[in-house]
Amino acid sequence: MYRTHTCGELRIEHQNQTVTLSGWVQKVRNLGAMTFIDLRDRYGITQLVIEEQSDSSVREIAAQLGREYVIQATGTVIPRAAKNTKIPTGEIEVALTQLQILNRSELPPFTIEEHSDGGDDLRMKYRFLDLRRKPLQEAMQLRHRMAHEVRNYLDEHGFLEIETPYLIKSTPEGARDFVVPSRMNPGEFYALPQSPQTFKQLLMVSGFDRYFQIVRCFRDEDLRADRQPEFTQIDCEMSFVEREDVLQVFEGLAKRLFQRILGLQFEHSFPRITWQEAMAKYGSDKPDIRFGMTFNDLTSAVQGKGFGVFDSAEYVGAICVEGCAGYTRKQLDELTEFVKRPQVGAKGMVYVRCEANGGYKSSVDKFYTPEDLSSWASLCGAKEGDLLLLLSGARMKTLTALNELRLELGNRLGLRPHDTFAPLWVVDFPLLEWDEETQRFYAMHHPFTSPCLEDLELFDTDPGKVRANAYDFVVNGVEVGGGSIRIFDAQLQQKMFKVLGFTAEDAQKQFGFLMNAFRYGAPPHGGLAFGMDRWCALFGGADSIRDYIAFPKNNAGRDMMADSPSSISEAQLQELSLKTMPSDKSDK
Ligand code: ASP
Repeated sequence: MYRTHTCGELRIEHQNQTVTLSGWVQKVRNLGAMTFIDLRDRYGITQLVIEEQSDSSVREIAAQLGREYVIQATGTVIPRAAKNTKIPTGEIEVALTQLQILNRSELPPFTIEEHSDGGDDLRMKYRFLDLRRKPLQEAMQLRHRMAHEVRNYLDEHGFLEIETPYLIKSTPEGARDFVVPSRMNPGEFYALPQSPQTFKQLLMVSGFDRYFQIVRCFRDEDLRADRQPEFTQIDCEMSFVEREDVLQVFEGLAKRLFQRILGLQFEHSFPRITWQEAMAKYGSDKPDIRFGMTFNDLTSAVQGKGFGVFDSAEYVGAICVEGCAGYTRKQLDELTEFVKRPQVGAKGMVYVRCEANGGYKSSVDKFYTPEDLSSWASLCGAKEGDLLLLLSGARMKTLTALNELRLELGNRLGLRPHDTFAPLWVVDFPLLEWDEETQRFYAMHHPFTSPCLEDLELFDTDPGKVRANAYDFVVNGVEVGGGSIRIFDAQLQQKMFKVLGFTAEDAQKQFGFLMNAFRYGAPPHGGLAFGMDRWCALFGGADSIRDYIAFPKNNAGRDMMADSPSSISEAQLQELSLKTMPSDKSDK
């Protein structure tokens, strides 16, 4: 038997018991007469002690130990002289009578402790060591518990977990596909699923009624902190449902997770706002509603006073930053620099200080009277001591820039704490998005999303105005999930493909299998998918999803540990009927 207890288990109640532990040596402290060893496993850390009077063989072995050696240690549980209140085993230590090295370790490239001294690249290269660290062990546990709760809840609600294939025909979800060459079909390729969208719809046609899958999805996109080329969705679909049915079931799931994982109870329904309102008030379709600072449209109030920048703007919006009239020149300059960054995209920023004496001080005093400024303040609900910040320009661009400014201020003012959660549903998205560059419409969600039926007439006259029967689940400015009621009528689906610029032939070629299925009695259906990695990161209080994925890729899409992607042999290429083009790898 390698162990009688784990390294996180022993307490003062175990005093005088003889125990055997196995684990990794985190640290050895040799104080001459006494040697202390921190022994670690998945469950915690226990201090082992070797005293002067300990057996000489034990002392000899202890002298050989290094970091990350795997050992088995037997001894007696004794109370600790200097208690460590920071760890659950901190009241005891184990006085060793036997010690055995089970395996040696090379010196690890970074210290494997709660706070590591390894840089990102090194930790990614030695991910198997990084995963030994407590924060990552906890992240994997959180992920496991989430998956477990999801399965329990969905099972209780009649959902069946059904697997769908990974080698498929491309499903457009707006990203590039990863493709896999087919040896048996030379010159032909599978795509890896961007999501199981078409399959789950087919399962509804097959009568499965309530489906879910915790499933890997693949998208060949540029990476950011919250994106990975392969990520996991909690993918769900239901038949004979309207939007309300879907939202009810999955609000229940979200509440269950908040409660079981974080101990948070949400008594009331999650707020719902329309996409229009989200954009007008927050400049974002995934608003962080933990704090106010919503937008005020001042366009008509500020125009006609000779200030060209405002007069020529399609939209002028303001946020009221409470209690910040005292911001210094330097702070305001910093914010101006912030909004001018290319990622934010504003040309400049106007401020109005609502001073404590009832006066106003602004960067546009030349053009506006104190009465003008006072009227803006009252439109924004500002009081003495508040600061107004205004951005102007094309409407959509300005709204999104103002969103960045609002979030930045939220961060600076500590209004976005990791342990406060504000979930909501965003509904009534536009069905289509016009792309200036290619001069065509794209599906904002995906091509299978049903339009709101009351907007159907607009399809032929003003497609850009048609609303989608789609919804997103948003928490703290993060889109945690999204879905829609689907088109289940082959004719409407065809119409949708047409608006999206597919010829009948293209549509048949790409989605013939789905349209065919729809000819055999497709039930009304709808569903959604949650981003599992994001949800875990959010609950864990992290910005990056990487820590919640055991083996993630870096920002260049590389697995630093296994060093992939990598080239394949000439023989493999031949077998696949493939030729590669010479590429310049010097910048890799
Ligand atoms: N397949 C969609 C997505 O990945 C989710 C859904 O509509 O159910 O975003």
